[in-house]
Amino acid sequence: MNAGSCAHIDGIVEVKLPEVLECEECVKIGAQWVHLRTCQACGVTLCCDSSPNKHASKHAHGSGHPVIASAQPGERWLYCYPDDAFVQY
Ligand SMILES: [Zn+2]
Ligand SMILES: [Zn+2]
Ligand SMILES: [Zn+2]
Repeated sequence: MNAGSCAHIDGIVEVKLPEVLECEECVKIGAQWVHLRTCQACGVTLCCDSSPNKHASKHAHGSGHPVIASAQPGERWLYCYPDDAFVQY
């Protein structure tokens, strides 16, 4: 995508957008979230690190899926966990 980010982000051709604006793991346990992120490997939408359960981070570390996109309306950025790379698109 952008030069100088990381191989994971560079390999993304089309950014996956959220199918639903909710954290599916928080919905299961009746928890609240702050912001939402969409995994660019599998498309799941989960909550951010400002949320009590940090499901997007747990998913990235547990599954090995490296890159998330913001699922917030109006925000257009990608973040790679292993490379700590942040790219706006
Ligand atoms: Zn990366
Ligand atoms: Zn969550
Ligand atoms: Zn994933």
